[in-house]
Amino acid sequence: MKITKPHAAMFASPGMGHVIPVIELGKRLAGSHGFHVTIFVLEADAASAQSQFLNSPGSDGNLVDVIGLPTPDITGLVDPSAFVGVKLLVMMRETIPTLRSKIAEMEHKPTALIVDVIGLDALKLGEEFNMLTYVFIASNARFLAVVMYFPTLDKDVEEEHIVKKQPLAIPGCEPLRFEDTLEPYLDPNGQTYRECIPLGLLYPTADGYIVNTWDDMESKTLKSLQDPNLLGKIARVPVYPIGPLSRPVDPSKTNHPVLDWLNKQPDESVLYVSFGSGGSLSAKQLTELAWGLELSQQRFVWVVRPPVDGPASSEYFTVNNGERRNCTSDYLPEDFASRTHERGMVVPTWAPQAEILAHKAVGGFLTHCGWNSILESVVNGVPMIAWPLFADQKMNATLLNEELGIAVRSKKLPSEGVICREEIEALVRRIMVEEEGCVMRDKVKKLKDTAAESVSCDGGSGTAHKSLSRVADECERHLERVKGKARGS
Ligand code: UDP
Repeated sequence: MKITKPHAAMFASPGMGHVIPVIELGKRLAGSHGFHVTIFVLEADAASAQSQFLNSPGSDGNLVDVIGLPTPDITGLVDPSAFVGVKLLVMMRETIPTLRSKIAEMEHKPTALIVDVIGLDALKLGEEFNMLTYVFIASNARFLAVVMYFPTLDKDVEEEHIVKKQPLAIPGCEPLRFEDTLEPYLDPNGQTYRECIPLGLLYPTADGYIVNTWDDMESKTLKSLQDPNLLGKIARVPVYPIGPLSRPVDPSKTNHPVLDWLNKQPDESVLYVSFGSGGSLSAKQLTELAWGLELSQQRFVWVVRPPVDGPASSEYFTVNNGERRNCTSDYLPEDFASRTHERGMVVPTWAPQAEILAHKAVGGFLTHCGWNSILESVVNGVPMIAWPLFADQKMNATLLNEELGIAVRSKKLPSEGVICREEIEALVRRIMVEEEGCVMRDKVKKLKDTAAESVSCDGGSGTAHKSLSRVADECERHLERVKGKARGS
């Protein structure tokens, strides 16, 4: 077979929050930039990746292959109570030998390997198989700034931040508040810290960073990452802002009772409530949220999961594995459904979120602040109630609330204690009926327009399109070099 187009191999971490943007990026590389794409995912995610996303509008199944890799057994390698991020890191690391043999078996080696942030150890395969390597940040530029900056800190600066809880000054960026710091960095003696710090040093060994963001969303951080006198000094290789990646959807063509219900509601009248692909609440918090929604007297769609005793991420690996526990009456307040059924709908465990947020009846989103959820809200012009639980979600909430002014949030962090029903009622009313919510809706609609400009392909004008064209050019040149070498040998 003659090789005519660059081939990108992508390595996605477990969980829909990673798999969805990787698939979208693969579709863009194939659809608009002439790549052949192979996406490697862990087997647990392969079926949903294939069925849910490749069949969606805008995909070209012929150019994108999805290959499932066996999910490694990490018992014995990680403490069962370890932070979800560590489990993901170890799973990805243990999968590298399988990824290596899959690539070795390919007749034509990929031109580029694109690895998700959690799979950074795979960057070493670049040299082995003569591939360019890119890190794909399915989160945002601020996340990239923090994870690269932390390993460079002097011990006393780190101590000021972690022990004395002072904000961390990151060159050219908004200071990082102690409360927003990613959990792995809070305990310098812990396994998570020991796993994450060396990873931060691997970033600049790639040929570039592909980040799911755009200028109007994170201008300051992006500038700093690209400025050789600021964070660019650490980043060292190009940053390609290619966001927002979001799955094109058409709610009118999706079959789901929640969309039928939304069709009957007035425009912008419904609050959508969801905690992402793996977030859960305690029993007490679930009860307060139910009461808060009821007291607010607003319409809502709520994706409800059974409560958990441990951390909010406890169900991360099991939430979408088919064992759906549909009996919401077991854990919602007595008679909640009958009291609220006229203006509320409860959906157990999982809902077609992108379609719901694109529906004109939705006017607000109570979100855990996962980056994909935020992007899905912004591209539909929906203001938010920020309810961060873990990982990058706390700093994302600060970005939405303090820097962009498109979300309200509770006085204390949900991880610091239960948010009471009265405060929830007030938050819902602030976003759905009060003037403050209208101002935020206007702002988020303006941001939505900048998102559309960024991804526009018209005359190649959008920043996202230009960024990916630069990646494509680099890969074309690399392919030519590889072919030249092969002819010469
Ligand atoms: N999602 C969904 N239905 C659900 C919950 C989540 O379709 O009931 C999708 C959501 O649209 C988003 C992804 O799962 O694309 C979650 O990613 P995010 O980055 O928001 O959070 P994470 O799950 O990684 O915490």
